[in-house]
Amino acid sequence: MACIVCGTELKDEEIECPYCGRVDVVVLDEASKAAVTKDAAAYRKAIVDKLKNFTIDAYAYKYDAGQFIEDKKRSIKICDGKDCARSIKWSKESFAQYHEKKNGSLTIHYEMDGQKKRGAFGIAFPDTGDFWKIGLKIGNNLRLQAYVGTEDKYSIVNDVPLSLI
Ligand SMILES: [Zn+2]
Repeated sequence: MACIVCGTELKDEEIECPYCGRVDVVVLDEASKAAVTKDAAAYRKAIVDKLKNFTIDAYAYKYDAGQFIEDKKRSIKICDGKDCARSIKWSKESFAQYHEKKNGSLTIHYEMDGQKKRGAFGIAFPDTGDFWKIGLKIGNNLRLQAYVGTEDKYSIVNDVPLSLI
């Protein structure tokens, strides 16, 4: 059976979801079923509201003596959980890369209920000379989806599990 909140497949003996902590409940009638669905939505919202400060590491470069040199690392906040719970939230900043590498990784920092957490995405850099943005969304499965591109043309990077419990 799958967790009613995040869809994680539960083993037979599991009554609590190992990913989101939702305790599985068994009901016998339709009226209770509706109440459980509503309760699951409230459970999701409570988790989303505890997720704050999705922030990525970026590197600023400066042009010095004929070449680009790394200036400083910057933390760029994208949004809180509630901002990206239903639709993609795009970074205000645009990014570019000045090398031929097609893939890299992106470190994301966030807080869950006040605790600092981090995760990493493998990222395929957009094949474009233009600047691009990073978008985040919390999927129906409560995993974090990252997108790269522009608001008109983008691709999903992948799902990253969040540290929820
Ligand atoms: Zn779950």
